[in-house]
Amino acid sequence: MITIGMDIGGTKIAVGFLDEDGKLQGFKKANTAKVFAQKGDAAEALQLFLGDYFSEIGISRDQVQGVGIGVPAVLDSHTQEVVSTPYIPKLNNYPLGLLLAPRLGVPVIVENDVNLIAVGEHHYGRGKGLTDFACVFVGTGLGCGLILNNRLYTGADGAAAEFGHLIYDHQGRKCGCGATGCFEAYCSGVGLTHDAKQIFSQAEIEAFYAKGKKGEYALAELLIKSARMGHPQAQEAIEEAFFILGLAVTDLVNLINPQLVILGGGIVNGWPEALDIVRDVVQKKARSVTKKRVVIDYPILKDKAGLYGAASLVNLSLENK
Ligand SMILES: [Zn+2]
Repeated sequence: MITIGMDIGGTKIAVGFLDEDGKLQGFKKANTAKVFAQKGDAAEALQLFLGDYFSEIGISRDQVQGVGIGVPAVLDSHTQEVVSTPYIPKLNNYPLGLLLAPRLGVPVIVENDVNLIAVGEHHYGRGKGLTDFACVFVGTGLGCGLILNNRLYTGADGAAAEFGHLIYDHQGRKCGCGATGCFEAYCSGVGLTHDAKQIFSQAEIEAFYAKGKKGEYALAELLIKSARMGHPQAQEAIEEAFFILGLAVTDLVNLINPQLVILGGGIVNGWPEALDIVRDVVQKKARSVTKKRVVIDYPILKDKAGLYGAASLVNLSLENK
């Protein structure tokens, strides 16, 4: 018997399965827009996609215990709707698990993608053996997953750990969520894009896109690359963004007193020095007992953590039944 783990991102869908020995196998990536371009609704598109995947890896549906799916959105635990997915319109306010499970004939669990990264790191990665830790992921947005008291903490409605939307400056930048001054508007792909637009001329931005780059938030990459090549304003902007992230992590450390904060995501991969900046801010600003033992470190499972988490959350829910 196997369990399927899936991660639906704005641009790519990743899928794999956890075998009986707890090894992730059959890793595959597909283009999100292509998968959802099929006729019909999201459940129909994913049923087709998974049907093809099962044939490719040579398994029949009765060998599948369940499917875990990560989405870049909040889940409403009462209605099981995926709430607010601007980059994947077919999933917006859509009860994916409820509609996909009967089509596949197996249990389907849908959860926020960074929550699943936290579960993956808890069972198979950097958080193994720990009871209280946070995963902070800086990608296009600023996400977080919390393991508290040895289990995933999702709050009263499934919407806990919206760390990126804690407020840094109530008169500051507009955030994509509609509020003003969220941390995400400063330290994320979105935040660095905002900085890039202040720093680079229109000609420099056009030259960057002429190299085949796509999407507004690719400008974060321009900022990071320029900083790496010694552009002083770009360096300053990145260091400021991670200093602000350090303040957010200090708040988090003071609030939940974790053993560990895992810091990952594409933007951190692009600027690994972020870890030292955040560690330094936390050591200077967090409360004394809390900061004495807290460890701040990179994740171990890299881009596979969400798949491990998705599959293991299905296994956990089956064990609890
Ligand atoms: Zn926000």
